[in-house]
Amino acid sequence: MKKILIILFALLFSTPVFSMSIYEKIDERLDVIQEWLTWNENKPEEVISAIKSIIETSNKYENKYPEYRELFMYITTDFEEYLDEYKKEAGYINIFSHASDLWEISQLEVFQKEFSYQWNSYFIMRKFSQNSQEKYLVLQDNTYETSVVLAWNIRDTANYSELYNLSDYKKHQDTVYEHVPNTQSPLQNNWITHNHSDDEVFLTADFCPSWKHGFEKEFIENYMSLWHKNIWIAITSSWIQWHQNDYDWLLEKNNSWELNISWINHTKTHNYDHGVDFSHNFLLTPGLDLEDELLDVEKKLLARWQIPSIFMRYPWLVSDDSMRKETIYTYGLIPLWSNAWLAKWESPEEGSIILIHGNKNEPYGITLMNQILNENNFEYWEIESILHEDIK
Ligand SMILES: [Zn+2]
Repeated sequence: MKKILIILFALLFSTPVFSMSIYEKIDERLDVIQEWLTWNENKPEEVISAIKSIIETSNKYENKYPEYRELFMYITTDFEEYLDEYKKEAGYINIFSHASDLWEISQLEVFQKEFSYQWNSYFIMRKFSQNSQEKYLVLQDNTYETSVVLAWNIRDTANYSELYNLSDYKKHQDTVYEHVPNTQSPLQNNWITHNHSDDEVFLTADFCPSWKHGFEKEFIENYMSLWHKNIWIAITSSWIQWHQNDYDWLLEKNNSWELNISWINHTKTHNYDHGVDFSHNFLLTPGLDLEDELLDVEKKLLARWQIPSIFMRYPWLVSDDSMRKETIYTYGLIPLWSNAWLAKWESPEEGSIILIHGNKNEPYGITLMNQILNENNFEYWEIESILHEDIK
């Protein structure tokens, strides 16, 4: 295997190709590599490591031959896309297990800039480095979809100003922030829209830290067998850490399109101190590092090529005014509550955000959810669409 790779690299990079026909030559050689990769599709592990080596080598050459920087950037981007596609098609995930050392995300930081592209407004939420490349996590206004782009491709950015101030995103941030103090409980809130009709609901499953073996896999399989796909998983770093294989299973279903998982940030540690008042518990625990709590989850998702959404769920739904202000405006996240926490006897109606626990902590909620699947004809929607509705 190593031998083949060395030959491939010799083919691509070592000979004096830097003549006038460099583009053609590299193109030709890339074709050879693509072909080789196609033959080896039954060995995903080798293919993936080959693609990664090509990307790394390309990065190295980019520094060595700055005059061809653009070309090597192009190769890198191409192969990164190819890898992404390949991973989806092959449905092969395990190679990415424990991937923090493979595609480590470093220097992830909040980075708020705006730009427009093809008449759409975009907001950069995060800047980070992955595989020696600078990337942005961006949000498209109107659709509320997030994606990852190479920073190099996005040049005309500005600080938040006109686009942001006139955006629907900003409008929703303000509405959510201003609405919450008017709800019944100042610390454990419910915010929800009821404007949906035609039996549309939203299913969210919390994966808080748990020592329990496994997760609610049978439920999710049942959900899929009834042709439902959309599920929102509120994920914690701690759950991932102790359930690597279970996490792999979820990613496999997501990457093969059997499930459409969207990731809600549920914090790194989901800290809980028994018997302590809400005002000093969960994310309001004194001394907790909010930045680390939020960004660590994003790092873990990005390292496995998952895209964090702009939604977050406070542990046990507990927050206070200054916490909400910070999460909404400093981190750009939209808190998501629930008016149908099944294990708390709250029944879903049209437009509800249903809350179950996917980590086996609330089997009763799962029993009820299975009943709902049998007895109701709800449609389970993507949560972004909630932001297209008026907030009540
Ligand atoms: Zn939780």
